[in-house]
Amino acid sequence: MDILETIYNTPAGRFVARKAGLPDPPKLRRGRLMPAGPVVLGELPGGGIAMEAMALLGVAPGQPVVDLPESRVKDDKGRMVPPRYPARPGAIIVDATGLREIVQLEGIRALLRPAMRSLESSGRIIILASDASAVEGLEAKAVAQAIDGINRTVGKEQRDGCTSNLVFIKRGTRASDLVSTLSFLLEGRSAFVDGQTWRVGPAKVSNALSSRPFDGRLVVVTGAARGIGAAIARTFARDGATVVAIDIPPAGDALAKVANEIGGSALQLDITAADAGAQIAAHVASRHGAERRIWALVHNAGITRDRMLANLDEQRWASLMEVNLAAQMRINDFLLANDVPGGLADEARLVGIASTSGVAGNKGQTNYAASKAGVMGYVWALRDELGERPITINAVAPGFIETDMTAAIPFVQREVFRRTNSLGQGGNPVDVAETLAYLCDPASGGVDGQIVRVCGQNLIGA
Ligand code: NAD
Repeated sequence: MDILETIYNTPAGRFVARKAGLPDPPKLRRGRLMPAGPVVLGELPGGGIAMEAMALLGVAPGQPVVDLPESRVKDDKGRMVPPRYPARPGAIIVDATGLREIVQLEGIRALLRPAMRSLESSGRIIILASDASAVEGLEAKAVAQAIDGINRTVGKEQRDGCTSNLVFIKRGTRASDLVSTLSFLLEGRSAFVDGQTWRVGPAKVSNALSSRPFDGRLVVVTGAARGIGAAIARTFARDGATVVAIDIPPAGDALAKVANEIGGSALQLDITAADAGAQIAAHVASRHGAERRIWALVHNAGITRDRMLANLDEQRWASLMEVNLAAQMRINDFLLANDVPGGLADEARLVGIASTSGVAGNKGQTNYAASKAGVMGYVWALRDELGERPITINAVAPGFIETDMTAAIPFVQREVFRRTNSLGQGGNPVDVAETLAYLCDPASGGVDGQIVRVCGQNLIGA
């Protein structure tokens, strides 16, 4: 439970907390909710894909961005303040896909400066840029990476629940490939994704965007009895999926509750069983019909066995590697290799859960960090191995998320983890779930081999 949020929720608590100078974590806009204010489009020379994608999304660009003063201006109380956009924009999309020269980077500064103090709360900065692999010449490649530096810094300077994210566009990407990403970033679904960068490319199979993308589709979620897994099951069900919820037998009651609540089915299974892949397919075929195929397979089950390396025994190492890494690879191997009843759909989505511990390392978590970095390495390697098969594989890397797993962290350490990100609070399980649902969206075929951090721009590590 977030103590500051609890304190600030009562008038007396708010009064005392303000007097004591305690930070007031902003309430984040969540769910399938667009920004309230206009979506400003800042198109820099050579751009164009953002305008096309916005048209496909049915979002009209907000007021044109022209003639803003460069110097500080007077606000309505006569104070000198930095320039702002006239209306409070809900989002600004910067189309920087045409930038190739260092001098052109200035254009991003000029567009974003007035946004820094005028975005509505939980507003969005979305920067689109050409991927380094899609541009020629050293200067253009350096410029692409420079934009990443802008994005990460803007994320840290933004306030009030606003986020900044950068999408690199690969060669051959069409506006239709971008729509699911733009929709995710604009909506409250991306509440806890901040300061991040990932890549979108041409989808092997294009599907239209829908507000119920999983209607008629079956999704398997491991570790679904509680925490993030239960939120994943609920989020996919909200978006139309029939969910197969998996967890170990001791969690059977909680698992059945989740499955019943969302009209799915429960499978009690330890994912480390050698034949887990076959058991999952058999369950799908027997409970949901032999013709049914798995649209998305969400490998969420995971454990911690924390010890400083000096105290870390072999048992704590081996059991964790089995659950967090080896089991999902075995399950995928089986289902990718065997076209059995209840097996994978041709265009299936495979997703896993890494962790910021796997990105940056974390004291007392050599085993956990290894398993989660392994998930990332596996995503990249399997992506290459899948070749032209239209199956996608991605992962999310959560930072501090409020669950039973993190409730077990000692208080002081927990408060430090929870606050040291650009949004000043822990994420909710639904934030991870929404990001996974975006990656598994039928319209996200161009998002492949990516790791998306859901960490509020965790200040620890990269
Ligand atoms: P949790 O402990 O609350 O839930 C994990 C679930 O997985 C449990 O229901 C558990 O019974 C199940 N499970 C464990 N071993 C299993 C097995 N062998 N077979 C089937 N089910 C099994 O954890 P959580 O916080 O909800 O985390 C979910 C995932 O997110 C994990 O992979 C975790 O490593 C990852 N993650 C969590 C955080 C966080 O802050 N909570 C941060 C980064 C990554």
